[in-house]
Amino acid sequence: MKILVMGPPGAGKGSQSQKLIQDYDLSHISTGEMFRKSYERGEDLGKKAMAFINEGNLVSDKITNEIVRKRLMKPDASRCFLLDGYPRTVTQAKALDVMLSEMNSKLTAVINIVVDTDIILERMVGRRVCKACGHTYHLKFKPPQKQDVCDQCGGELYQRKDDQIDSVRNRLSIYESKTKPIIDYYKGRGVLVNINGMQSFDAVYRDIKKALRDLT
Ligand code: ADP
Ligand code: AMP
Repeated sequence: MKILVMGPPGAGKGSQSQKLIQDYDLSHISTGEMFRKSYERGEDLGKKAMAFINEGNLVSDKITNEIVRKRLMKPDASRCFLLDGYPRTVTQAKALDVMLSEMNSKLTAVINIVVDTDIILERMVGRRVCKACGHTYHLKFKPPQKQDVCDQCGGELYQRKDDQIDSVRNRLSIYESKTKPIIDYYKGRGVLVNINGMQSFDAVYRDIKKALRDLT
């Protein structure tokens, strides 16, 4: 299974992806997470990327395509994977097509999670992430058992710089102009499914699983 999960920032891509990778045994390829990890390791790539990320801008197509290409070449990813947050531009979507055709492969499903802007804003400003394991919480919708502490690993929770309101607004406007056009790019291939993301975590997941059953 080769799944792409897309939608605006804060739609719930990461939350749903976490469940999908466990249930379907998929390699999780999150470009945002790869950039953040690279930054934490003190790498030049991460430092360069984080300057764009903190302002809510996209990292260049060239850098992003390159890290995805390298990741897809690893043995675990050639079988089954879930792409989360990539592609984010039509240029990236075209580059992904080239990579997949080189692997004699194609996407099984493109899951597009749809959420209104007012809900997105509330979700993003309340998001908290574990510094150690990357697990995601929400102050109101998914609070940790102990304040600022990760239920999974005991790590410290923090607010991403790009989840502050100015960055969020920029990210939403970039989503509209650069990322949304990808939906049209995948139309007509028989793999695109729109999922209502304005439901409980479990209801969204139920709808995604149903869509995957219908497609496979
Ligand atoms: P994305 O990966 O698309 O940016 P996340 O999965 O990190 O989004 O979700 C953004 C925030 O919204 C997180 O704090 C998460 O806990 C919360 N969230 C995600 N899905 C839901 C949902 N269905 N209902 C309520 N809150 C949600
Ligand atoms: P995410 O963790 O998916 O919310 O991504 C966080 C940030 O990383 C984004 O706002 C971008 O700045 C950057 N990023 C992640 N994926 C991509 C991508 N495919 N193309 C460009 N920038 C990206």
